[in-house]
Amino acid sequence: MIPIPKTGDYMVMQCLSALLVLVNGLLIAVNSGPVQAQGDVRHGVILQYHHVSDSAPASTRVTPKAFRRHMEILKEDGFNVWPLARLVAFLQQDKALPDKTVVITIDDAYLDVYQNAAPILNEFGYPFTLFVSTDPVDQKLRGFMSWDQLRELQKQGAQLANHTQSHLHLLRKLEGESESEWLARIEGELKQSEARIAEETGANWKYFAYPYGEVNERLLKKIQEWGFLGFGQQSGAVDKALLNSGIAPRFPFNEHYVDEKAFRLKAASLPLPIAKESSEPIVWSKPAKPQLKLTLTAVNGALTCFASDQGEINVVKTADKEFTIQSDTAIPVGRSRYNCTMPVAGQQGRYHWYSKTWIRKRDDGSWYRE
Ligand SMILES: [Zn+2]
Repeated sequence: MIPIPKTGDYMVMQCLSALLVLVNGLLIAVNSGPVQAQGDVRHGVILQYHHVSDSAPASTRVTPKAFRRHMEILKEDGFNVWPLARLVAFLQQDKALPDKTVVITIDDAYLDVYQNAAPILNEFGYPFTLFVSTDPVDQKLRGFMSWDQLRELQKQGAQLANHTQSHLHLLRKLEGESESEWLARIEGELKQSEARIAEETGANWKYFAYPYGEVNERLLKKIQEWGFLGFGQQSGAVDKALLNSGIAPRFPFNEHYVDEKAFRLKAASLPLPIAKESSEPIVWSKPAKPQLKLTLTAVNGALTCFASDQGEINVVKTADKEFTIQSDTAIPVGRSRYNCTMPVAGQQGRYHWYSKTWIRKRDDGSWYRE
């Protein structure tokens, strides 16, 4: 069995209401939902789910009822639900897209997604992306989709993308493994899973979602050298810069984060207008209060930041539009985050949203248990 992510840490046509999307050589019409007055924005929001089930662990599931409610809210609130590839293309080409554009992504290819989420997505006519770890599918493990089921969803409009072969913890080196051996192993994982998806479905997007959202600076660069577009599990809206950062943000949802008001806030969020970020290392093996330094292009109101399990943390304005963000107490062992928001000028109830992930190993340098 692959390890199950524990903490949940865990894409216009100006005048058409249907999109034609090229999937695996087939032109597929996908309903983009109601078309809004065209905005002139260059950002969107990517939503991330794992299980859609009444019985999977709360940290990695939303119930079918909660999932349906999220889809209803997207419709009620006039969101444009796009395929990931379309959002990526618009952002990379600096093309204006409508305000309130969201993308639905679901990781791991669980069978309950085929059984419970796909029929709802089909009903709403929403496109979606599945990030697939290929070993469990190849090994026909219980609880995972088969290649036949994945091909069926692909015909429904699902984009199939890469989530490694074995859903490993990318940063954990094997005993005695050198840096270059480690990188070669990870490169093999990504290229093999990409090849398996291409063999079985013809899809070859080179979009990659990090298992557990875990990455360090070295791997971030390598993922890009290998030609992949990386997607994380840290909150926030996405723009071109964030897309090209190696780890595009996605808002994760699980049973602890299904509240409707929070869902609306996240789905309607904008990226933080970051001119420059300089922060301390992602990975620590001692007690640390990492500093996140942000220079913004515009400041519209209070920048407010929270740390996992700590509540609100210190935000110090060090110069005009420059801020240093730091927790009051050491970050916990495991994965944690700083989440920062700032009100959007002239749009009450909407926020810029940015999140930074930290990873702290145990003090003896060993890895924490999942
Ligand atoms: Zn996963």
